[in-house]
Amino acid sequence: MTVRVPAKVNLQLSVGPPRDDGYHDLVNVFHAVSLFDEVTASRPEKDEITVEVGGGFAGQVPVDGENLAARAAVALAARAGRSPAVRLRIHKTIPVAGGMAGGSADAAAALVACDRLWGLGTPREELMEIAAGIGSDVPFALLGGTAVGTGRGENLTPVPAAGRYHWVFALAEGGLSTPKVYAECDRIREATGEPAAWPERSEPLMAALAAGDVKALGATLVNDLQPAAVMLCRPLARTLAAGRERGALGALVSGSGPTCAFLAESAAHADDLSVALNLAGVCRTTVTADGPAPGATVTSEE
Ligand code: ATP
Repeated sequence: MTVRVPAKVNLQLSVGPPRDDGYHDLVNVFHAVSLFDEVTASRPEKDEITVEVGGGFAGQVPVDGENLAARAAVALAARAGRSPAVRLRIHKTIPVAGGMAGGSADAAAALVACDRLWGLGTPREELMEIAAGIGSDVPFALLGGTAVGTGRGENLTPVPAAGRYHWVFALAEGGLSTPKVYAECDRIREATGEPAAWPERSEPLMAALAAGDVKALGATLVNDLQPAAVMLCRPLARTLAAGRERGALGALVSGSGPTCAFLAESAAHADDLSVALNLAGVCRTTVTADGPAPGATVTSEE
């Protein structure tokens, strides 16, 4: 059972003040892009979970119970009252710790793959609930497309989005820890005395998506975590500037970073921008992708 699952970029990430439970209230406009991991679930030789990871980023991913795909399998099995025994093989294409929710994507894919392999037929709403228990970004990886997430980001409402959007992602050396970026965001706000506003959905952004207006979309992209990510990884300022100087319609840090996302006018423009960013030497490498992409999808039942 093989499931393909997309990475995400945040078109809007507005972060409220820290809550008592340590999380922040968010308005998180997720957009799934055509950069996919694949998770294959098959019957194990012994009554246990095993995880194997292949692909470009394999070395950075845990292969024990810490793997988010394994945690998803355990959560689903517990809900169904069965053994979580499964062999999980993950092919990673989504950058690790890059702010593109790759681990969450694998968790979503594992839920769908194990549900099918074990013949559970878990209703969609229940899968979404289990997904939210694993992590705030996991439900969106099931859904795909474009959606607004509120609360910790897990309460999702799909957004009607016209058109296709072409992106260049500039990958950085190393990753950034999501909790550290949130902590830095709080620290900067405290130090500057800038109060954290209650996060609201950006109506100009919604209008741009509804109209399929790529220029307007580029002008409305916003990420409250960006100053914190740049503070923790200073070279990102140069990466973002280089993309803007080379004609990106919008440039922002993806989620908690350090991947930077650039919105291009067309697929050809994305290719040109990708080459220009590589030549400028402002990132480790680039990948192009477009969106919206579908959520976790079964691609093979063998
Ligand atoms: P987000 O955008 O949701 O904040 P991210 O893209 O920054 O996440 P991930 O790639 O999801 O970060 O990985 C964060 C950490 O989770 C990694 O450092 C890794 O150790 C751990 N991890 C656990 N399972 C996985 C997995 N299947 N794929 C990638 N990382 C995983």
